[in-house]
Amino acid sequence: MNLISIFSKYPTQESCLEHLETVRWGDNPTCPHCRSDKVARKNELDKVGRWNCHACKSSFNVLSGTIMQKTKVPLQKWFLAIGLMANAKKSLSSCQLARDLDVRQQTVGYMQTRIRVAMVNRERHLLQGIIEADETYLGGKPLLKFIKDNVEPAGSLLMTDEWKGYGGVKNFMQHAVINHSTAYAEGSVHTNTIEGFWSLLKRAWYGSHHHYGVPYTLLYVAEACWKYNERKNVDPFGGFIRGCFA
Ligand SMILES: [Zn+2]
Repeated sequence: MNLISIFSKYPTQESCLEHLETVRWGDNPTCPHCRSDKVARKNELDKVGRWNCHACKSSFNVLSGTIMQKTKVPLQKWFLAIGLMANAKKSLSSCQLARDLDVRQQTVGYMQTRIRVAMVNRERHLLQGIIEADETYLGGKPLLKFIKDNVEPAGSLLMTDEWKGYGGVKNFMQHAVINHSTAYAEGSVHTNTIEGFWSLLKRAWYGSHHHYGVPYTLLYVAEACWKYNERKNVDPFGGFIRGCFA
């Protein structure tokens, strides 16, 4: 969904809440604290979107447990921030987004961190099949340990460049090497896919952020991974909103 669609489809706090309630609960609202469906909307006009749970006597809204919980920023601005970030190939600086949304930069930084946290893939599976590995200068764990921790070696083929750090790979799995001083691909052996991902990450680095603080590096990588994995999704905004409740 592009920005114009988000802006016109969700013009108010109420319309944003209604959309989130539909995505989260469909026709069966449930209490996020005790999972009971013995719930009812509060009637007070100043409590739009709030519900009472008759089972555990708590009060809640659809944002409970999400990145937007207890936010004071209007939900339309959250929706626009998500739409802008999801569509920005080179990522967005907090200065830029603060200007776009007319929100203080500090607040936008907080929103962006939360959006990036939601982009972290929590479903961790070992990689299988044909796998490309490559290294880029960001620092991190020793590479062999990283490969052992994340790859199912049985039946898999790891494709890398000739960097000597991969020297021990052949001891535990099939390993194909492409020597970049002579060619960038030999038949189906290449590292073009992973290098495409690095270029996405580096474009965000050079184009928008200029430097990452160490504690945030994984969040910037998570954002780049999320965008890479969603690149064929026609509605990354919708995918993100659904992911908030996954
Ligand atoms: Zn409850």
